[in-house]
Amino acid sequence: MLRNEVVLSLLTLAFLINSSAFAGDEQAELAGLARKFHISISQAKTFPVKTSDKDITGKLPTGEHVRSFSKMLCSELSFYPPELLQRAGVWEIVLCEDLEYEHRRVALPEYHQHILFFDIDCDIYQDVYFRGAIHHEFYHMLDFADDGTFADKDWCLLNPPGFHYGAQGTSDELCTSPFAGRVRFDLPGFLNVYSTSAVEEDKAEIYSNLIVHGKQMDQFAARDPIIRAKIARLKAEFARFCPEITDAFWTAGRAIDRPSNWPTVVPQVVVPKTSEDLTNIRPNDARSRRVGTVLFEVACPVVVAGLCMIYQAKRRRQRTRRPGVAI
Ligand SMILES: [Zn+2]
Repeated sequence: MLRNEVVLSLLTLAFLINSSAFAGDEQAELAGLARKFHISISQAKTFPVKTSDKDITGKLPTGEHVRSFSKMLCSELSFYPPELLQRAGVWEIVLCEDLEYEHRRVALPEYHQHILFFDIDCDIYQDVYFRGAIHHEFYHMLDFADDGTFADKDWCLLNPPGFHYGAQGTSDELCTSPFAGRVRFDLPGFLNVYSTSAVEEDKAEIYSNLIVHGKQMDQFAARDPIIRAKIARLKAEFARFCPEITDAFWTAGRAIDRPSNWPTVVPQVVVPKTSEDLTNIRPNDARSRRVGTVLFEVACPVVVAGLCMIYQAKRRRQRTRRPGVAI
């Protein structure tokens, strides 16, 4: 009996030591984050989670992954005003692994239940990818909360004439390609292929990169008038939606110490520079440029033909004045 009690005590001690290893600073940080934003942060969600159509599945995260992810989460949300999450309808953040809804997800915004899920398997996803995903998914919550829809006709008008989201393939193909989210410089008006899949993804990519790659986005916007217009519009949207957002918010976002996966190859200029105030670019500007091109193409042959006629007339006159000179 005594021996059993000793064994039980040793097992209890081992459990407490093991538990304390998972209840370190990160738990205090997560608790602080939850208090600041008046949300709950769950590490033991019961799956599956029912939605109006399909179930969301996942499993409990490991303590190691909670430690790694919580540092990123606390750092990336450190400059968010509490009102922003409240207005975006984020009531709960769930940390889990093997997150699935139709297919494996790194994150999932569940607008109707006000939950933001994150698959925090840090062995699969890169640090910088997670950081971008935190802001990308948060933006989806905000985008839905502001008017209950993702549709945005005014944003679509900023795109090149004739462009339609999802036209380069089905949404599923665009979403699942491993290269879809890679920033590139040959898609005027867009950061990557994924941005072309849907208006809400375009906006979420602009926002997350603005936070995570602020300086690089400045350079991108200096070359690309449509990106510049989209950034201006997105910032105006934030200011309207949450008056607590000021310039200090955007400055603080780029002050976070984080790695970068921005392409290092300096791109050739693919978008013509222009001196106009590009934050006010209108869709008709591109049409005006096309009209100018057509006029140039018509005028050039006329001018050349005229110069030829003048030259020939001049030569004829010379022949008349100086007979005998070989031409
Ligand atoms: Zn998205």
